[in-house]
Amino acid sequence: MAMLEVRDLHVQFRTDDGLVKAVDGLSFDVDRGRTLGIVGESGSGKSVTSLAIMGLHRQGGDTEVTGQIKLDSEDLVSASPDRVRQLRGSKMAMIFQDPLSALHPYYTIGAQIVEAYRVHNKVSKQEARRRAVDLLGRVGIPQPAVRVDDYPHQFSGGMRQRAMIAMALSCDPELLIADEPTTALDVTVQAQILDLIVDLQAEFGSAVIIITHDLGVVAEVADDVLVMYAGRVAETGSANDVFRQPGHPYAWGLLGSMPRIDVARLDRLRPIRGTPPSLINVPSGCPFHPRCSYPPQVGGDRCTTEIPVLRETGPEHRVACHLTLGKQREIWAQLAPASAAAESGTAAEPGAAAEPGAAAVSGRAAAPAADVTEVDAT
Ligand code: SF4
Repeated sequence: MAMLEVRDLHVQFRTDDGLVKAVDGLSFDVDRGRTLGIVGESGSGKSVTSLAIMGLHRQGGDTEVTGQIKLDSEDLVSASPDRVRQLRGSKMAMIFQDPLSALHPYYTIGAQIVEAYRVHNKVSKQEARRRAVDLLGRVGIPQPAVRVDDYPHQFSGGMRQRAMIAMALSCDPELLIADEPTTALDVTVQAQILDLIVDLQAEFGSAVIIITHDLGVVAEVADDVLVMYAGRVAETGSANDVFRQPGHPYAWGLLGSMPRIDVARLDRLRPIRGTPPSLINVPSGCPFHPRCSYPPQVGGDRCTTEIPVLRETGPEHRVACHLTLGKQREIWAQLAPASAAAESGTAAEPGAAAEPGAAAVSGRAAAPAADVTEVDAT
């Protein structure tokens, strides 16, 4: 049984403009020692999902969370707020996107780690302080015994993010959720923080969820990938499958809109055309259809009238699209000749990457060689 099981999760917000279906029937698992990367554009429901897992939505009133979130078989959706508060910090922890907002400016870094540790452990202040110094050292803060008494504004952006990670790890959580942990950081520090998360995961054996819009980050650290669109799963599978043989046009668009350094490129990157849909008025049928170029290849009006279900396209690889598996393979082979050639063992272009993490964007992810122009062109 997976450590975290999410089943048919719905998160809805009642607003003056209508009901916002931020998460609409999401299901996934995360095992111990595995890292799941959740990717998608802003508004796809990634962060709302992580806040639901952490029990940080104010239930009742205008917010409704339904479905199941089982952490070690214990359902968090039906658990009392006190029980979820007990588990938050001790069994599950979160690294927030903006450490400057997440850290309290009035208290020292050390005081904040000490408080987080003592909430869940009956230890003296001295012992908790020793723990804080130890953790700051382990996440790479120089002179931790001195810097423990610094205030957040005295830390650089990278150091603040490390301090957040130290705080999140203070109680050895079994589930660690990192919500855009590197967005505010420059590329060098970003790489250091990702390495740190990978190292600490190996040391602590936690299950990790990385939420990001950056497929380069996913390629760097994730074992499994879940692509979200309009609050639903568009595609899910191992990182290897999703990077090598993506089946959903939205995934093709994400991959095609990223730079890669292993293939010569003379034209501009092509963004996915259009914008993410309103979650109050989600398009009928497949929510991606207003931005997709492939409904004619499906035929009829299925794309505009019928919501595609997740279908197995390989072991543990599932895609929510009406295109047949043969069509998906055929189109992807045209969009990514280098990747397809690398997979079939034929040389495509010098240096073409065979592994998802080998090519690079933001230094890292493998994207289609040619353009995903067809996603953009209509
Ligand atoms: Fe495009 Fe249709 Fe597939 Fe949706 S179901 S991604 S609209 S081809």
